[in-house]
Amino acid sequence: MSATERPPSVDRLAREIAAATDLPHPVCVEMARAAIDTGPAGWDGQAALAAAIAFRRTLLRPVINATGVLLHTNLGRAPLALAHPGAAMNVEFDLAGGERGSRQAAVGRLLATLCGAEAALVVNNNAAAVLLVLAALARDREVLVSRGESVEIGGGFRVPEVMEQSGARLVDVGTTNRTRLADYSRALSRKSADVALVLKVHPSNYRVDGFVESTAVNELATLVDNRGGEVPVVADIGSGLVDAACPWLPGPPPGWLAGEPAARQTLADGATLVTFSGDKLFAGPQAGIIAGRADLVAACARHPLARALRPGAHVLLAVQSVALAYLHRRAHYELPFWRMASVSVNELSVRATQLVADGAHGTVVATEAVPGAGSAPGTVIPSVGVVVPGDHLATLRAAPTPIVARSHGRDTLLDLRSVDPDDDVHLAAALAALDS
Ligand SMILES: *Cc1c(COP(=O)(O)O)cnc(C)c1O
Repeated sequence: MSATERPPSVDRLAREIAAATDLPHPVCVEMARAAIDTGPAGWDGQAALAAAIAFRRTLLRPVINATGVLLHTNLGRAPLALAHPGAAMNVEFDLAGGERGSRQAAVGRLLATLCGAEAALVVNNNAAAVLLVLAALARDREVLVSRGESVEIGGGFRVPEVMEQSGARLVDVGTTNRTRLADYSRALSRKSADVALVLKVHPSNYRVDGFVESTAVNELATLVDNRGGEVPVVADIGSGLVDAACPWLPGPPPGWLAGEPAARQTLADGATLVTFSGDKLFAGPQAGIIAGRADLVAACARHPLARALRPGAHVLLAVQSVALAYLHRRAHYELPFWRMASVSVNELSVRATQLVADGAHGTVVATEAVPGAGSAPGTVIPSVGVVVPGDHLATLRAAPTPIVARSHGRDTLLDLRSVDPDDDVHLAAALAALDS
């Protein structure tokens, strides 16, 4: 049906949908037309309106994460307010010389200082970081990977597939549960070996327990190739903890971080490069960071793929502000993730008690929150929540500021560790509404 032959009812229905949803006119016209074309007996205006409201709810918006999963991949991982100056920025402009400058010079330097690296580069995400490192440093050459680390990490990041896309050749080393230094040495000493690098991948959300053995970075750093040359060790640490000592926290590093690889220590142990996500334990925006030896970082920056994988000005600005927060040691209160991760159980109890006192029909319970996004797998962070009898998950998702809670047997649990205290008022209102 062409636009000129459009029956008046399409326009009328589109206007009704627009009035109820505030969606733009062309979208409402499409929805009205679809209802009229496909409706069973003629058309169903109510169904079209319901579909439009449902579509409007799919638009990106802030939600309240009451799941207790601090870095929730479906909810955008680390929460962070992005600075949008709405103005021109000196992205690639050298204000001293008045000439074209480097997009990454400042942020790269801050990240390098933070990680104890010579240089650093920011790309779109960690998958892009690994892809770029392999393409720039190992195209048409071999990369050794332990069979125990040739894993899939949520969201379709599969080590062998990324390897294939980069043009590097994967050489499996060891077995699924045990890989020793000797396994790497054997692969390196083959007469035909042409090994560009050794890749160590943090298994993140994957764990093999029991009879397991893997080779530490400081051991891998001692390997030599069949001509006696050094072999760069690239460690994909994934989660992006920048320093295991957590100098930005007022107290000692929290227990749940024990065993999580950190950029600074991995480089100090002898890794040539590390790669990690910007939006996991780094607590920043979606980004991928490559840090380590200057000549190798420069080779990554020069590779043609770097142009396709480079982040925009707003992401660079956000990464810069996160790096500054760590270096100024203000991260524990400036970065929402570290605020959530370090708030005391006592403070959470006070908030939960207040919520229940405010008329929320529920009970305060001790819970276990988790870091999430494959970070520190298997560890929990003691937390406090409110349990409301019955399954209210859908009702809470339909609240004016949608609330994502989790089920607790047949009941509904809202874990407060992943909730910004400023959002408690929204929780109180939504919980009070459940009773009526
Ligand atoms: C999360 C993760 C990735 C993927 O990172 P993205 O930033 O989501 O692209 C890759 N490797 C490891 C080890 C990870 O933990």
